[in-house]
Amino acid sequence: MKCQTIMGIMEKLAPKKLAENWDNPGLQLGNPEQEISKLLVCLDVSQPVVDKAIEIGADMIISHHPVMLFKGLLSIRTDTYDGEMLQKILSHNIAVYSAHTNLDIAQGGCNDILAQLWNLEKVEGLALTDPETGDSLGRIGYLSKPMSIEAFSKMLCDTLRCHHVRLVKGGKDMVKKVALCSGAGAEFISKAVFKGADVYVTGDIKYHEAQQAVKQGINLIDAGHFATEFPMVEAVAKYLRQELASMKQEADVEVCEDNISEDFFKVVGGKEG
Ligand SMILES: [Zn+2]
Repeated sequence: MKCQTIMGIMEKLAPKKLAENWDNPGLQLGNPEQEISKLLVCLDVSQPVVDKAIEIGADMIISHHPVMLFKGLLSIRTDTYDGEMLQKILSHNIAVYSAHTNLDIAQGGCNDILAQLWNLEKVEGLALTDPETGDSLGRIGYLSKPMSIEAFSKMLCDTLRCHHVRLVKGGKDMVKKVALCSGAGAEFISKAVFKGADVYVTGDIKYHEAQQAVKQGINLIDAGHFATEFPMVEAVAKYLRQELASMKQEADVEVCEDNISEDFFKVVGGKEG
């Protein structure tokens, strides 16, 4: 199957026009005309992920975070981490496609994946990105029945790829209305308060943002950037398999998932109490 066809399938899930204007989604490396027989879906394109792609013979990587972002590419020095990685990708003729903020905003994207994982009901957008279309970042919805904030926090650990979450207990003991934003969503704490959420779950929370939540009387949970986004790997792989199965070339393209990446942050125990 042509790379272009896979790009079309991804475009259907996460249209590039949804992306924020600073973002850089789409085909990062490779040629739309090249033939693809094996895909590897991942959150980040890292050296271990690229090595894995080479090992399993994947000829296309689909990632959430773009390989090239923020800084214009002024040189490719192969004595740097990224340069060496890009050389490896190109020398093995691997295409790389990324769906970033467009996948966060898309219906069925990263935020909806979390809402589904926690069985939220009556799910709506949290923060509008386009008032005309109603496209939004983050989601807000209801648990089927109220639960204690501690039980909810434990449920997050059970459903996400993390061993702990950081709870800022600024609100009620029992929660039912849940706001969420995958990745780094501290900017929407006030939005979650305004929309009446009992708890707001996101990643990358800083001290003064936690303090803001306490002052505004909302429970805040930092479940980690990695853990709140990693579920996209399984969900996007599942989507691709379904789409490919509905096409005749089903048998021609295999979809694999990154099962080696882990959060950079590790919790190390210290003194008791
Ligand atoms: Zn992210």
